[in-house]
Amino acid sequence: MNPVLMANYARLPVAFARGEGAWLWDTDGEAYLDALSGIAVCGLGHAHPAVAKALCEQANTLVHTSNVYRIPRQEQLGERLHALTGMDRAFFCNSGAEANEAAIKLARLHGHHRGIANPAIVVMEGSFHGRTLATLSATGNAKIQAGFEPLVSGFIRVPHGDLAAIEALADNPDIVAVLVEPITGEGGIRVPAPGYLQGIRRLCDARGWLMMLDEIQTGVGRTGRWFAYQHEDVLPDVLSLAKGLGNGVPIGACLARGAAAEVFGPGTHGSTFGGNPLVCAAALAVLDTIEQDDLVAHAGQMGTYLLEGFRTRLGDLAGVNDVRGKGLMLGIELDRPCPELVKQALKKRLLINVTAGSVIRLLPPLILNREEADRILDTVETLVREFLAA
Ligand SMILES: *Cc1c(COP(=O)(O)O)cnc(C)c1O
Repeated sequence: MNPVLMANYARLPVAFARGEGAWLWDTDGEAYLDALSGIAVCGLGHAHPAVAKALCEQANTLVHTSNVYRIPRQEQLGERLHALTGMDRAFFCNSGAEANEAAIKLARLHGHHRGIANPAIVVMEGSFHGRTLATLSATGNAKIQAGFEPLVSGFIRVPHGDLAAIEALADNPDIVAVLVEPITGEGGIRVPAPGYLQGIRRLCDARGWLMMLDEIQTGVGRTGRWFAYQHEDVLPDVLSLAKGLGNGVPIGACLARGAAAEVFGPGTHGSTFGGNPLVCAAALAVLDTIEQDDLVAHAGQMGTYLLEGFRTRLGDLAGVNDVRGKGLMLGIELDRPCPELVKQALKKRLLINVTAGSVIRLLPPLILNREEADRILDTVETLVREFLAA
């Protein structure tokens, strides 16, 4: 669309000039309700004053030094995440893919320390872990991999949600870890049966594998818990975070617990920008605001309201296969591909997404109010009815 930008994005023909809360205004001044939050990033909505204040104050004080030195803001954020997650140590980077790269490197190094020369990681069909070479190799989507072969080796793939398939790998001596999204994001909001994470925890404990959760999309309050594993009362060994952590400021984190937290020593991994004072100040403001405003519980309540609303309005409609989700991570699966719904929603001034071909994906901000939720319900119901009748 623009000759000076690479053509790797199929962009919609709209640009936004400003935002406030769950709303965005385009360059013509038209208002849109944002039910996507920059893909699960802006949980506090747009232009949140606490994040803006933290960024301004930190920018006026110190933006960047280097991980050559101690960084007090990074240590503070590490403490905060330690308390919230139950993980022992943090490595900070700048994106989700980098958080997973760190997790993959950590698992491999852990394997080598234990004498495993070709460590393998169990990953899932329909998963998404990022666009770098290792993370696209871990990703369970042939379209994302096509053209980028040779892929990074060392991944063994099983269906998402299938404990028996993981158990069947128990005798493979090369396996060092299982990497899984608690709910798939890009893969179509697939919610595994209750007990899935507990089952993986048991298998990992029995085999000495690391349980590694990619909570880049599900984390930081999105599903109605701080982290999705907290629905099942388990702790992973490794946890990757990004999207919602900085409310739009690029930050990722790979957290680890127990032996996994001791794997990286000096010189094994790093990032120039990772965890600099500016991004850590933003993330601290995000976590403080979520806590002060009780937004995790609020996301759970609004999510239930939307899920029940959609089930009532669309659940029995011919052409709607499923309405599912947890908290403010919702999917409506139709019986046919529906990518054009994104443009049709844009015309109705609502921002949504369609993923995995036929799943309408909603990831509204955690600050969503009842009136905004009703507007999403009304607009999406109308869109789906019009689309299925056409
Ligand atoms: C978005 C996402 C990633 C990749 O994050 P980037 O910041 O785009 O690199 C990885 N895993 C999951 C589950 C995601 O949703």
